[in-house]
Amino acid sequence: MDERRNIPATDQLLDDPPVAAAIERFGRERVKRTVLAAQHRARNGEIAAADVIDEVRANLPRESGGLRRTINATGVLLHTNLGRARLSEAAVRALHESAGTCDVELDPETGQRGRRAASVRRSLLEAVPAAADAHVVNNGAAALSLAATALAAGGEIVLARGEMVEIGDGFRIPELLESTGARLREVGTTNRVNIDDYRAAVGPDTGLVLKVHPSNFVISGFTSTVEVGQLAELDAPVVVDIGSGLLTAHENLPDEPDANSVLTAGADLVTASGDKLLGGPQAGLLLGDERITAALRAHPMARALRVDKLTLAALYATLNGPATPTARALRRDRAESERRAEAIAEKLSAAGVPAAAEASSATVGGGGAPGVTLPSAAVALPEHYARTLRGADPPVLSRVEHGRCLVDLFALDPADDAELTTAILAAGSPCPDPGGGGRG
Ligand SMILES: *Cc1c(COP(=O)(O)O)cnc(C)c1O
Repeated sequence: MDERRNIPATDQLLDDPPVAAAIERFGRERVKRTVLAAQHRARNGEIAAADVIDEVRANLPRESGGLRRTINATGVLLHTNLGRARLSEAAVRALHESAGTCDVELDPETGQRGRRAASVRRSLLEAVPAAADAHVVNNGAAALSLAATALAAGGEIVLARGEMVEIGDGFRIPELLESTGARLREVGTTNRVNIDDYRAAVGPDTGLVLKVHPSNFVISGFTSTVEVGQLAELDAPVVVDIGSGLLTAHENLPDEPDANSVLTAGADLVTASGDKLLGGPQAGLLLGDERITAALRAHPMARALRVDKLTLAALYATLNGPATPTARALRRDRAESERRAEAIAEKLSAAGVPAAAEASSATVGGGGAPGVTLPSAAVALPEHYARTLRGADPPVLSRVEHGRCLVDLFALDPADDAELTTAILAAGSPCPDPGGGGRG
């Protein structure tokens, strides 16, 4: 009972400066709901009366649509927890332009209904000359589902045991495939598969032969896989899930498959994500044979996986605009990153923060280039800074390594350095509590 009497009054909570600021933007009614909910939780004993004000502040509506902008200083370029690829400036402008009403499905000549996504399709075909056609869905998993459903439901998907991949957060490609009503026909062993294994498995029930890029692990030692060129000789459509979405070969990622090379090697269809190495919005790309893409488009499921105008606009801008932040990062050279880290460390040191620049190794993350490290540089701080920086505004996500907090510059452009420095300085004195930003 005593505890309940300590719950702050509604008027007192509404006068709290951050709460009052939220009222100006979102209105009193909306903010009051947050206040009442926090008081309710305290009355139920779910939170302490003393924590009500923090609960209210944490749950105030936000201008950014409920998501908080976060600085990715983890050294993981495509961090799934941080929204993977950062959109290009051109893509952000395109989102803004298309947010209202736009001609997403209108033929300007006739004023009648036009083909949806025609300009994105054209751009993809220009970027991937080996593709006869292209179709876009909501994400990589949707692309795979649509291909499996349209080509193999009721039949079999032939897949090597070494390519039965779990992507992350419990998402397992074999389970997704089976959920479409297709049966999996596993071939080979964990470490080895050969073309005869495939030959023996392919038959009248085969809907497709699938090759999946092991995008987050490597198997080394006594191994063998079958190249796309050999699979193409089988009497079944060959679908390759390249995952990471490189459209053409990238010199800094020589082992990463790309759509154009895989199609040139003989694949009938390639599936890929839009928000990994392509550096665009979340999307699933299907590139390849025209008869197959026509079957995909005609399938009723295509409508359920259809992308919205915002995705189409951002994807078009990604494909046609200047280098994306992802592309710029992949070409970053260590000497330049080290100069940036030194300049930041100097400013921090001058303000009494124990910071030092050092060389660092970044990774692609987000299901791409497993085992590959990319040259980077970081500002090293005492480990307990990791937690302090997560509380900065905007939050800075770092990486804890060997008992230190590394603020890695790989995923950041030089233009971000000033904001990063300001956020670190404003984060205030660190609270000595371990726990880092982590990898992955
Ligand atoms: C990431 C990935 C997927 C899933 O793509 P989403 O866009 O996350 O749905 C599927 N296959 C592979 C090989 C991947 O790397």
